[in-house]
Amino acid sequence: MEKGVICLIINYMFNENLYAPIEKVNFELFEQKQIELFIKREDLIHPFIAGNKWRKLTYILQDASSKNKKHLVTFGGAYSNHLLAVACAGAKYHFTTTGFVRGEELSNHMLGLCRWFGMNLIFVDRESYRNKSEIFDTYFSNNNNAYFIEEGGAGELGAKGCREILKDIENEYSHVFCSVGTGCTIEGLIGYANEHKLKARIEGIVVLKGGDFLQKQIEEKNFNQANWRIHQGFHEGGYAKTSPELLAFIQHFASQTGILIDQVYEGKMMKAIFSLAEENYFKKGSKILAIHCGGTLGMLSVVK
Ligand SMILES: *Cc1c(COP(=O)(O)O)cnc(C)c1O
Repeated sequence: MEKGVICLIINYMFNENLYAPIEKVNFELFEQKQIELFIKREDLIHPFIAGNKWRKLTYILQDASSKNKKHLVTFGGAYSNHLLAVACAGAKYHFTTTGFVRGEELSNHMLGLCRWFGMNLIFVDRESYRNKSEIFDTYFSNNNNAYFIEEGGAGELGAKGCREILKDIENEYSHVFCSVGTGCTIEGLIGYANEHKLKARIEGIVVLKGGDFLQKQIEEKNFNQANWRIHQGFHEGGYAKTSPELLAFIQHFASQTGILIDQVYEGKMMKAIFSLAEENYFKKGSKILAIHCGGTLGMLSVVK
């Protein structure tokens, strides 16, 4: 009897068969520099619960379930991949969902999809949005079913899920790259590399301006073995800011590989890898693994 109950609790995201293959991409630049670039297609895990958002939610939803919570409450901007992931995962695994959206009421394809997956959206002004636990308490302090999920799925459980991105990969890469927003994903990757003594250096491309706090945040985790580095110079003006060069790069990359990358996260990561290659950052023979965490739907507002 009890065993059955336990099975029910863990019987979801863990048990799905994830498809996130590694593909090599070829560019003249990499041939010239005698390095190789591989892409881990975490974006293919799910169309709406993509990449690191799936990884983060695995343990978060397990925790919600084990506490008998039925209602996921979370936070995001108007184009948040995380809100969409929670909306869809809520629908798939039978939770009701509420999303608090930063800023004035508006409508776009991302929020539209959230609604179609059944998420209740509540818009909050930027000032109030800063204090998320206060918002949660205002609406849900009397609701025993409500479960608080940090913006972006950040936190220990999220990072624990992100470790699994590197599970089962060959220990043959010299560099593993990811984009960095809250820092949760890279903390998971560093944690895994640390524990399994991977030879790769874990490298993060910060996608926002003023990301010095991320350096400190990761240092404070005291990873002893792992080799990691974050790069602050590739944010293109700030979070969600783009440049004509960035968009031209993404278009070129897509047209040469058939792989679309978004303008907020993975486009900046990939452009940074190309810039670093041009500056001879990588030794000959380097094997680079770039993690594509999804977010591609964000491009629908760019490619029209
Ligand atoms: C959320 C997101 C990130 C940022 O991950 P963090 O764990 O917040 O650093 C990167 N890429 C994509 C596509 C995302 O949706």
